[in-house]
Amino acid sequence: MKIHFFGAAGEVTGSCYLIETHDTQVLVDCGIFQGASSADERNRAPLSFDPTEIAHVIITHAHLDHCGRVPLLFARGYRGPVFATEPTCELIKLQWDDMLEVMRMDFNHHQKPMLYDAADVERAKQHLKPMRYDRPQEIANDVSFLLRDAGHIFGSAWVEFRSHGKVAVFSGDIGNDNVPIVHETVALVPCDILVTEATYGDRLHSSPRLRRYELRKHIIEAIQRGGTMMIAAFSIERTQEILFELDQLIKHERALPHVPIFLDSPLAIRANDVYRQYPQYFDEQAMAEYKSGEDFLNFPGLRVTYKVEESKKINSVPGPKIIIAGSGMLSGGRIMHHLMRYLPDKKSTLLLVSYQADGTIGRKIQEGARMITINGEQIPVRCALVKMDSYSAHGDQNKLLQWVSSGPSAPRQIVVVHSDPTAAHAFVLVVKNKLKIQAQAAMPGQIVEI
Ligand SMILES: [Zn+2]
Repeated sequence: MKIHFFGAAGEVTGSCYLIETHDTQVLVDCGIFQGASSADERNRAPLSFDPTEIAHVIITHAHLDHCGRVPLLFARGYRGPVFATEPTCELIKLQWDDMLEVMRMDFNHHQKPMLYDAADVERAKQHLKPMRYDRPQEIANDVSFLLRDAGHIFGSAWVEFRSHGKVAVFSGDIGNDNVPIVHETVALVPCDILVTEATYGDRLHSSPRLRRYELRKHIIEAIQRGGTMMIAAFSIERTQEILFELDQLIKHERALPHVPIFLDSPLAIRANDVYRQYPQYFDEQAMAEYKSGEDFLNFPGLRVTYKVEESKKINSVPGPKIIIAGSGMLSGGRIMHHLMRYLPDKKSTLLLVSYQADGTIGRKIQEGARMITINGEQIPVRCALVKMDSYSAHGDQNKLLQWVSSGPSAPRQIVVVHSDPTAAHAFVLVVKNKLKIQAQAAMPGQIVEI
């Protein structure tokens, strides 16, 4: 078996790995490159392989840096199945539609050519093959794979790939501990090679146990300032986790004063319906809520604003108030309009709960920029800024090490992907020193044979 590293090698985005066996070629993930100024050009570049020679595509989860280029495969001739868990298949459809909408707007306003069109997205949707966790899928003679719960976002999986006695594991993204709604990461199996993410391979998060109360503290302080609290959250998973936490604080613990809370993200509102459609994927606490007839994605004071006109009216609601909107890295979406209005307001608060990739407005603000440009306008940053990393959907160094050692025997070798070079290097070192496992950071275009 040969593994080619075509993306997320030496960087965080663009996950794409090709497995070559005697009988078949399989692609694990096909995500977009994000953040850096060269990302757009790289997404449009010719693929490093021939899509018509690929027989199967496996998608680990519905984040765009793992699934965003799948319709491009269809635009360039791929016609095989796209395997993913049931919720991932539904969430992916929302992601592709959303991406298509953004590309249409870019084309209409800036004549930027689209990466793929509606027909490609439709074709990709028709080739989705929903799977359950832990059910082996045979794809060629003595070649099969299983999807295991990665505990990262709803429906997320790591891949156990078996071919002629060899086992390769692809982590996808590995979840943080005690993430609301989703299960904990399933323990690793013995494998010949583990291709693992290490987004936070050089860092430790603050304790997840305290995060609900940390969130409460920040909200109360923001309310006391009297302005608007903007919570910048990815529409899929982070938003639902924040809603779950607010539901706990408001409905069960009665620990927050009553202020209007707006969910201002059409994508998040649609994603909520996918969560409601697959309760069997909930963890114990979310399942208990569901069984008692509670909808933890809805609570007193929450207003969902689906239409643009409704979103605009939020401005006329006097503070204090809370707005949850995407994108989490301030790289588009409805949060942008709220930023223009509330960033210059000393009484307002911006809460960042996500990883901020290099080159994004979120990263600039996080690093202390006092002035940023949105839609060609200079916007001063005067509001309070709060950053919480304990809601990260990614495990930190300890969690990754614990997962790597969670199987009955250690992986024979580890290749580190999905991290910037500093984090990858740090994680390789700690794996070698602490776990005594052969490890390396993947290089773009590298081939590893096992
Ligand atoms: Zn992810």
